[in-house]
Amino acid sequence: MSSRSSDFLSLQAQTNPSPYLIDVEKAEGIYIWDKSGKKYMDMIAGVAVNNIGHRHPEVINAIQNQLEKHLHVMVYGEYIQDAQLDLTKNLASILPNNLNCSYIVNSGTEANEAAIKLAKRYTGRKEIVSCKASYHGSTHGSLSVTGNEIKQSSFKPLLPNISFIEFNNINSLNSITKETACVIIETIQGDAGLRIPTIEFLTQLREKCTSTGTLLIFDEVQVGMGRTGKMFAFEHYNIVPDILTLGKALGGGMPIGAFVSSYEIMYSLTNNPVLGHITTFGGHPVICAAANACINVLKREDWIATADAKGKLLENLLLQNKSIKAIRRVGLFFAIELTSPEKVQQVVKRCLEKGLIGFWFLSCPNAFRLSPPLSITEEELKTAGEIILSCLD
Ligand code: PMP
Repeated sequence: MSSRSSDFLSLQAQTNPSPYLIDVEKAEGIYIWDKSGKKYMDMIAGVAVNNIGHRHPEVINAIQNQLEKHLHVMVYGEYIQDAQLDLTKNLASILPNNLNCSYIVNSGTEANEAAIKLAKRYTGRKEIVSCKASYHGSTHGSLSVTGNEIKQSSFKPLLPNISFIEFNNINSLNSITKETACVIIETIQGDAGLRIPTIEFLTQLREKCTSTGTLLIFDEVQVGMGRTGKMFAFEHYNIVPDILTLGKALGGGMPIGAFVSSYEIMYSLTNNPVLGHITTFGGHPVICAAANACINVLKREDWIATADAKGKLLENLLLQNKSIKAIRRVGLFFAIELTSPEKVQQVVKRCLEKGLIGFWFLSCPNAFRLSPPLSITEEELKTAGEIILSCLD
């Protein structure tokens, strides 16, 4: 083992007993190079982050321009700053009318924490409904609504008054009542191994929330920003949440989160108590400048419109191999199900050796994930397909 690897393993806190250990030198587009010069095709995009590829020139340019003006000047929400204002305008331009007011935070989990607080504050209610097998983040509040007993068990007590419904089970919607402040749900469940909702389930969920005065929170931290072939996954279903949470790809490679709602709902954070959600660095100008550039790139390029056709191309290639049990896919987000967790480990490891990065799911050991940059070309997808096929045999 190199001294860099052993330093990494001893000096840097570890959470995974067997990390990938790619020693990163640089990254550009869909590729990452390690320090030995080995080139990897990044087929997970930093876990659904680099949707427009690594180091997109417009993101780099926006960051550089902002560096010339100012870095941090004040905690969130006190001063008017171009980068924050432009980002909130840009978000409003791509979202429905009732999602016209954004609060920019630091991460996906913070966005979910704050969204739940907002729902409690606005409705005056205490109960929260979430879904089994969900993932909403790793801080206490988000972990409390993450439907994964293994992830939760050592960290109890967590938040009280949370119940879990079955994703895609219409009968379970009966547990949403006039006592429920909010339902938080991934529009498409990601870390459960890509579970795609039925239109009936989401329609009835929306109706139940509306009829009980419950706020519906869609967590699109992972599936937002074009990943599924629409800018936002809820657009596939013609259903609009009351609060939307974003993160990951929004920052164009920079760390960000956002929760978005109507002005009316959001305004409740200004009173009883004042400063209903506080963050020092949320809406940092350099990060907002990057996110703004990222949205502009996604608006201009045809990458979202072509995501489904590109995804289909790779899906068809991979389905040639009989050891694949199933492929669940939406846009350029894949769960590739194999016969056993061991087989998954083996294939992902072989792919890595051959210079292609795939990754696991938190709650679906029989499948591995692919979520390449949306900028990937058809040729590159064919190459990726060939590498994966060669590793399956
Ligand atoms: N929600 C979902 C659906 C996610 O996939 C994730 C991250 N995987 C989060 C929230 C948490 O985001 P972060 O890691 O930025 O806190």
